[in-house]
Amino acid sequence: MTQLEVRDSEKLEKQDLDHLWHAMSRHVEGGKPMIAESGEGAWFTDLEGKRYLDGVSGLWCLNLGHGREEIVEAAAEQMKRLSYFPLTLSHQPAIELSAKISELLGDSYKTFFSNSGSEANETAFKIARQYHQQNGNPGKYKFISRYRAYHGSTLGALSATAQANRRVKYDPGVPGFLHVPPPYSYRCPFGEEVTNCDKVAADQIDQMIVWEGAESVAAVIMEPFISGGGVIVPSSDYLQRVAEICKKHDVLLIIDEVVSGFGRTGKMFGFMHSEGVQPDIVTMAKGLTSGYLPLGATAVHSRIYEKFKEQGTDNHLRHVSTYGGHPASCAVALKNIEIIEREGIVARVARLGETLLSKLHELADHPFVGEVRSKGFLYGLELVKDKETKEPIADPVIGEIIAKCKEKGLIIGRNGDTVPGFNNVLIVAPPLSSTEEDLQFLVNTIFEVFQDTK
Ligand code: PMP
Repeated sequence: MTQLEVRDSEKLEKQDLDHLWHAMSRHVEGGKPMIAESGEGAWFTDLEGKRYLDGVSGLWCLNLGHGREEIVEAAAEQMKRLSYFPLTLSHQPAIELSAKISELLGDSYKTFFSNSGSEANETAFKIARQYHQQNGNPGKYKFISRYRAYHGSTLGALSATAQANRRVKYDPGVPGFLHVPPPYSYRCPFGEEVTNCDKVAADQIDQMIVWEGAESVAAVIMEPFISGGGVIVPSSDYLQRVAEICKKHDVLLIIDEVVSGFGRTGKMFGFMHSEGVQPDIVTMAKGLTSGYLPLGATAVHSRIYEKFKEQGTDNHLRHVSTYGGHPASCAVALKNIEIIEREGIVARVARLGETLLSKLHELADHPFVGEVRSKGFLYGLELVKDKETKEPIADPVIGEIIAKCKEKGLIIGRNGDTVPGFNNVLIVAPPLSSTEEDLQFLVNTIFEVFQDTK
């Protein structure tokens, strides 16, 4: 690899502070921006040459880590051959990728490509509404999602997102989005004495559909495991129950696999942990290209697509994305999936997520740790001040833990709920191709920091 020119880091830092509007940043930065210079595998290097293990895979997308030459070449070759082509027409990488996605989903699906997870979900909402409208049920327009869910930043996807602080400044959102409590056994929304929280949570969806009138509900959208809302991991029969409820009411089931897709949870798709569930629509992004290029995908079961076909061309889906399904992004996705399969990444995540990484579960004995929840390479450590009362830990302590990890060369994240005090879940989600040595470093560093935190 050619050495990048040495940059004037002070100038870059000043320009960053003056001109770059960061995602989720506060106006007063206080301190230096973290500017990455290069990356290799699970690690990146900042401008000063300090190396960090990226324990959250960027924004949970860098599944195969940095610097995969094969992926870079796939993009370059594709750009040289055909730099751009719209999917109002067609091109080879999109065709092959749509066929591959259908194969991976284990049934016949048609895929619409976009550029991001938010767009993939927006596309799903439009398809669901039009499907019902053209299928003799024009009143079915509402969507149900769960509190604490995150489904994206655009107004429709944000309306499905149900974390107050992410929304309040942008309300009112899109009409027709309803929310139910999540299957969050640790703080069961239906009361501490409830022992079958997941079942009660699933039944709430049934109840809401009945109360709203099934003839008004288009779809339920959910992640198999809530990621951005604090890693909430229900038992596998929760999703099975939700799928049955949807079927009973002719409500489509949209599964958001933006984070959990392509191996993150130890199966190719997160819904596959729940036997017998075959979603109507599956949305994807992030791990689809391991973050090398932007790409979103909305895979729609053929039985839904057939209903569009029956309507003739005048009733086609009125939806287009200039860059969606860009040839280079599709070529990158195909190469990414080829590597995931060739290197047995999914089985590896299942094995190491249950062995090496699961050492993190021992932290449940630490006085600050209320619960450790996990699936594959997706870990959430819920921090509390008091294990009995489950009062969330005060803010500076979480910040200190993250800062101490960073000091030692490990990046971890935090999320949870956006209501004050409840952003108290530490997030660990390393690249799926992290070496065993990398994972050992990650676990050791977190243990050292916890031992050091009183
Ligand atoms: N769905 C889920 C579950 C996500 O976590 C995210 C992003 N973190 C999105 C959708 C939106 O994806 P994007 O940022 O690519 O629009």
